[in-house]
Amino acid sequence: MTTEVLVKSVSDPTCLRINGERLWGSLMQLAKIGATAKGGCCRLALTDLDRLGRDLVIKWATEAGLTVTIDKIGNVFMRREGRNPSLPPIMSGSHIDTQPTGGKYDGNYGVLAALEVIRTLNDLDIVTEAPLEVVFWTNEEGSRFVPVMMGSGVFAGVFPLEDIYAVCDSEGKSVGSELEKIGYIGTETPGDHPVGAYFEAHIEQGPILEDEEKVIGVVQGVLGIRWYDCKVTGQESHAGPTPMSLRKDALQTATQIMQQVITIAGQTPEGRGTVGSVQVYPNSRNVVPGEVTFSIDIRNTSDALVTDMDSALREYIATLSEQSGLQIELTEVSHYPAASFDSDCQAAISKAAVTLNYPQREIVSGAGHDAVYMSYLVPTGMIFIPCKDGISHNEAEYAAPEHVTAGANVLLQVILQYAGIAG
Ligand SMILES: [Zn+2]
Repeated sequence: MTTEVLVKSVSDPTCLRINGERLWGSLMQLAKIGATAKGGCCRLALTDLDRLGRDLVIKWATEAGLTVTIDKIGNVFMRREGRNPSLPPIMSGSHIDTQPTGGKYDGNYGVLAALEVIRTLNDLDIVTEAPLEVVFWTNEEGSRFVPVMMGSGVFAGVFPLEDIYAVCDSEGKSVGSELEKIGYIGTETPGDHPVGAYFEAHIEQGPILEDEEKVIGVVQGVLGIRWYDCKVTGQESHAGPTPMSLRKDALQTATQIMQQVITIAGQTPEGRGTVGSVQVYPNSRNVVPGEVTFSIDIRNTSDALVTDMDSALREYIATLSEQSGLQIELTEVSHYPAASFDSDCQAAISKAAVTLNYPQREIVSGAGHDAVYMSYLVPTGMIFIPCKDGISHNEAEYAAPEHVTAGANVLLQVILQYAGIAG
């Protein structure tokens, strides 16, 4: 590259593009570690395969001149110095652990897109004002060790480190001992690490972008979730001799609640309501059901809207219980708070998509991401790209090379805007 072109590029950073082939090649190479027969990837957190994946990403980072820091929960930070090292770094990344029958893109894409941004800046000899850091967080998926988003949660102070060390998998192996075994217990106290802003590129994991032929999703936030068990108690009786007016049919009452879950979800644009699991007792053809238990999953864009859904559900159940004379118990089993991402970060992502001429739309994430916990700490943004048929957590997960490239180009623009180019 001639000096003239370089100067032009730096004076007009909107001309800069990442190397899509190199990024794709790295994605495919990382996916070989834990590759499954159906073309997916199985690299569960804190296994030997996770170690091999970590080692490979760190090798690439070291080759790109980055310095590596590991914290006590095994989060890995790879730093490129800025002209002003005292500025907090602009950080980008995601996770490299996968589901047991996971794909090549979920998480891995965000880490390697951030690395590709660094490689591109190296190619062009561009120094940023603020330092840059690539991160991968420990155990985002939560399939071997619960909770999900473990490393970023410890970093954000949501989970105490000692509690998390004691968490065991189904074979009784603990997070602490497995981290030690793979050699990834670092020395830094989690969270004791300045960050200026955080950006995460990720596949959408849903069908919206593909359906609307958009290339970039500007993520506004992540839905808040509440999970319940609901139990309706009636009275089992013979299907023949018991007239309709004298029945206490638990299933008929339960289905009214199930329909109401859907009705409540439909009352706001991004509300979600799901009944995914039902048990009927005694589950016999000619017995009026005496007891029904089922799950309820409700989601919405803010905690306040989730609380509104909760109130509406409880009100409906109280009235129904009174009218039917059946006992209805609603028990909340867990909840996850909603996150809304920084409006300036969203604006920067949207502006980059306009500059690069990629069709875009605003979108909310129905699934959790490490960016949720980072948004508790610093201005945070997420960039979605389409994935085929909206499928993820599946070996068939696929993102097209041009979309993989597009998301990383947006990430490059956003990172340069936030970190500044050293003049
Ligand atoms: Zn992910």
